[in-house]
Amino acid sequence: AGIDFSKIASIELYQEGPVRVDPIASFKDAGLHPAMLRNVELAGYSVPTPIQRYCLPAIHLGYDVIGIAQTGSGKTAAFLIPILNKLMGKAKKWAAPRPNPATFQEGIDRELRAEPLVVIVSPNRELAVQIFNEARKFCYRTMLRPCVVYGGNSTKKEQRTQLQKGCDVLIGTPGRLVDFLDDPSILTLRRVRYMVIDEADELLNQDWKEQLDKIMCGGEQEEGHIKYMLFSATFPKQARDLAKTHLAETHVRLRVGRAG
Ligand code: ADP
Ligand code: MG
Repeated sequence: AGIDFSKIASIELYQEGPVRVDPIASFKDAGLHPAMLRNVELAGYSVPTPIQRYCLPAIHLGYDVIGIAQTGSGKTAAFLIPILNKLMGKAKKWAAPRPNPATFQEGIDRELRAEPLVVIVSPNRELAVQIFNEARKFCYRTMLRPCVVYGGNSTKKEQRTQLQKGCDVLIGTPGRLVDFLDDPSILTLRRVRYMVIDEADELLNQDWKEQLDKIMCGGEQEEGHIKYMLFSATFPKQARDLAKTHLAETHVRLRVGRAG
């Protein structure tokens, strides 16, 4: 995999939304903490892709974002880097207290519910795990802890244990997320600051509309409001409706396409 930068010259990016942002030319211009810039280097990313050039400043400036772009355009880092960068300075203030690993007892302490700051919804296990692996790279030295949840009976108990150990960045498939949300002693969304719907068209094709609405409503937000990012390869009516229901009217909308 990886990005084919020889094709980038033929990629065009259109800003269609009510708000326009100035793109960055380099990751160094993105206002990143030194530790995050280091993580970007460690990941081997030297040049931002077109969607990253616009998405990093848009999220940095606090806008909701709709990104319409084909697979392989670098969407994962486009949302992970600026969101984690925003949160790493606030982790102390906003994140839920972490259990002490030395005294952690599996499933015993009912207070150990997950209260993530970021929720990323993905249509299937493979994509969720891919995002989780990227999140692990960019969470390095940020104090933020990522977790991933997806369907299947054999995995549920272990996922719950992982959530109880502390979860700031939660990546999951909609079925399992709602399953855990139905028990507030496992998971609540009251601390969520950022919500990302990845592959929105695919999620809606799979009929997860009801679950998406439930997740996107969040909890009784403790403080502030949730910022929403919606990514999709195509932007059919169902996805436009979802965006209209949940995203701020003043959002940044990016469409990446090949010229010609
Ligand atoms: P998408 O979600 O748009 O399909 P991904 O986020 O999965 O794309 O990225 C595709 C591949 O490109 C991944 O292997 C990722 O690590 C790599 N990649 C992303 N951004 C960059 C970059 N700026 N430089 C080099 N590789 C990148
Ligand atoms: Mg993707």
